[in-house]
Amino acid sequence: MTTSPRVLGPGSTLGMLGGGQLGRMFAIAARQCGYRVMVFGDPSDSPAGQVADRSFANPFDDQDALLRFAQSVNVVTYEQENIPVSTVEFLRSHVNVYPGVELLRASQHRLLEKNSLRKIGIPTADFVGVTSAAQAEEAIRGFGGEAILKTVTLGYDGKGQARVRTTSDVEAIWAGLGVQEAIAERVVDFDFELSIVASRFGDGTCAFYPPVLNQHVNHILDLSVSPSPAISTRQADEAVEIARAILEHFQVIGVLCVEFFATRDGHVLVNEIAPRPHNSGHLTINACRSSQFEQQFRAVCGLPSGDVRPLAPAAMINLLGDHLLQATAERWRSVFELPQTFVHMYGKSEARIGRKMGHITCLGSSAEEAQAAAMESRRRLGFSMHPEH
Ligand code: AMP
Repeated sequence: MTTSPRVLGPGSTLGMLGGGQLGRMFAIAARQCGYRVMVFGDPSDSPAGQVADRSFANPFDDQDALLRFAQSVNVVTYEQENIPVSTVEFLRSHVNVYPGVELLRASQHRLLEKNSLRKIGIPTADFVGVTSAAQAEEAIRGFGGEAILKTVTLGYDGKGQARVRTTSDVEAIWAGLGVQEAIAERVVDFDFELSIVASRFGDGTCAFYPPVLNQHVNHILDLSVSPSPAISTRQADEAVEIARAILEHFQVIGVLCVEFFATRDGHVLVNEIAPRPHNSGHLTINACRSSQFEQQFRAVCGLPSGDVRPLAPAAMINLLGDHLLQATAERWRSVFELPQTFVHMYGKSEARIGRKMGHITCLGSSAEEAQAAAMESRRRLGFSMHPEH
């Protein structure tokens, strides 16, 4: 049973586990309303540390530091799912931590996650848990000779997964994954990918942003559009009901994101759950009165939901290290010239290929207009578009 959050007003101190960009945008939203924010797990020059009141740069198993952190905050939340469960369990005996441990545990382990979803009747791609190359081969044969093998832990943005196109490759792919346990998943011939960012509050109310259409490049989110005319009312309704079932099953207090495949017959299948705000929800900062980060601090502070209705169609485009190689000050100037265009940079000093450095959100009178503006903004930074755009 999740403990109800205590009502915390401005002036209270919110603890954030993790110092990445999600923690940064949470800290910006919370501090705007007068909350203090303390980051644990990253130094003061981390993306979140730069805008927080204080950072504890200690490892997640440092119990002395965790105790000092717990004693200096009124509530704790997290911005990434790789926080050790033992850290949250330790903190919970001193201070409320949201969302709870069960959701964190499930989102750290693909098999546990998929089994929890199956148990509550939520549709996913067919999957089988496997612990050897022979088992993987048998499972893949059952899926018609083709599948995706995914490690059960530490997989994100396509890491820890490999497509198997013929069973004769299984042995080598299994060895390459270098793990004891994985899941074999049927390849979904999806129409497109979508996600929904949802929040749940102490009184049990839930709030849902409209679903977001997502395009990935090299398994990393590239572009998000919402509301999108490509998503049917039936798919949007299914996404909301599934997100609601997950929020209620795990008694979530906070924000989560559910990622889906839209199937060719017009339904949705869950791909995965993130127990926190999500890259595909960044457009809510500029497109909605209450952003996903405001929803997060409202939920953990025992406040009511904000208004999650969109003010305008929006598109968000990610800026990875590779997109910024030509980004001179003059080029930035030409981006800031664009109306209805909002630049968000995460304060990371080193721009590596594939590293998320920032994003741009554009509003428009239609989804198409917002998407075209987002692509134009990145083009102005000197990056030539991926051919599939
Ligand atoms: P994941 O790390 O599970 O989110 O997967 C990253 C990306 O790989 C997804 O966003 C999809 O584009 C693709 N993918 C993952 N699982 C499947 C599947 N079962 N069938 C088809 N594509 C998949």
